[in-house]
Amino acid sequence: WRRCAVYPEPPKEILRPVYLPEKLLTSPGPCNCSDRVLQSLSQQMLGHLHPEICQLMDDIKAGLWYAFQTRNRLTLALSTSGHGGMEACLDNLLEPGETALIAKCGIWGERAADMANRSGANIKFLETALGVPFDLTALEKALAKHRPAVVFVTHAESSTGMKQPLEGVGKLVHKYEALLIVDAVASLGGEPFFMDAWQVDAAYAGSQKVLGAPPGITPVSFSPRAERKIFRRKTRPAYYWDLKILGNYWSCFGAPRVYHHTISATLVYGLRTALAQLVEEGLLASWARHAATAVRFRKGLRDLGLQCYIENPEHQLSTVIAIKLPANIDGNILIAQVMKKYKIEISGGLGPTVNKVLRIGLMGINAEAYTADRVLSVIHNELQHSLKAKI
Ligand code: PMP
Repeated sequence: WRRCAVYPEPPKEILRPVYLPEKLLTSPGPCNCSDRVLQSLSQQMLGHLHPEICQLMDDIKAGLWYAFQTRNRLTLALSTSGHGGMEACLDNLLEPGETALIAKCGIWGERAADMANRSGANIKFLETALGVPFDLTALEKALAKHRPAVVFVTHAESSTGMKQPLEGVGKLVHKYEALLIVDAVASLGGEPFFMDAWQVDAAYAGSQKVLGAPPGITPVSFSPRAERKIFRRKTRPAYYWDLKILGNYWSCFGAPRVYHHTISATLVYGLRTALAQLVEEGLLASWARHAATAVRFRKGLRDLGLQCYIENPEHQLSTVIAIKLPANIDGNILIAQVMKKYKIEISGGLGPTVNKVLRIGLMGINAEAYTADRVLSVIHNELQHSLKAKI
């Protein structure tokens, strides 16, 4: 190596101290972590098979059984963000040539279709207008027509702020011998979710949203029906997502743990602590707190003369609220001003709602009255300074 030239200039930027401002994160995620979660993250590293880590992983499973309302033994957390949860569910439950029926009414159905397509599946859509959920009649028609192996539904469509009702969906999907995958990234812990009662076969959540842990450790759960497919399939999913091996690492099948990858001990501490907070508060109390904050926020919006993008109250999420962007307001100016002046993050549209909405996330520790009022007040202050330039 002595004959290799060493670049003469070591990078100076890396020597600068890291200074990070504290921001109030009220976009659809990530949201702020509690002090208790932050403290847990500062503990020293442990090995990925040390008994203490294995105990914390077992604790996480117990917390997730509660959060998902399930008894599924194949319940664990993946070392990835929400997208990885989506990919793991699709890749494990679809074989090349099978059909995936994907409910599409915002960005997440599109993303799932892209992933399922890469797993070699045929894609069929159950499409509704933006912000409008599908109903059971439309679902049954699509199931009968396409005979899919898998149906993909987003519970909390964070690009529009829409909640998809899930009662009856799993039962219908099973009548047609398909498996139901649900994206619960923006809902788990903040909206009622009953994995077993609703007969959901695979669900994944977001650690960085309602749960209030950092991103990068994604809760997932698979029903016994889904497990049968995973064990009987002819082709193999990508190694990193292979739930047969991951299930062993998480000791889901009663066999000794086997190394699959090096889990981040730090993220295990964070998720374990975040789940403890959810269990201490109680799911019912957490759902009620998110609902009450959203009601207060929506009332405040009406007082400011602003409208929710989702008009039907039954389909409005508590966790993510999309506001119709008034025709005379430049959303990008508003978002930039709110960040610059107040260090508060709010968000614009995503995918099909770009330039149509502002999106506010009131999740985890930010789902409370003071934060809701603060966001309303800064929006109120900045609206008048965010007018579109007249051409
Ligand atoms: N699904 C939904 C409903 C989401 O809101 C998000 C994140 N905004 C994702 C999936 C993807 O999650 P991540 O950014 O953690 O990969």
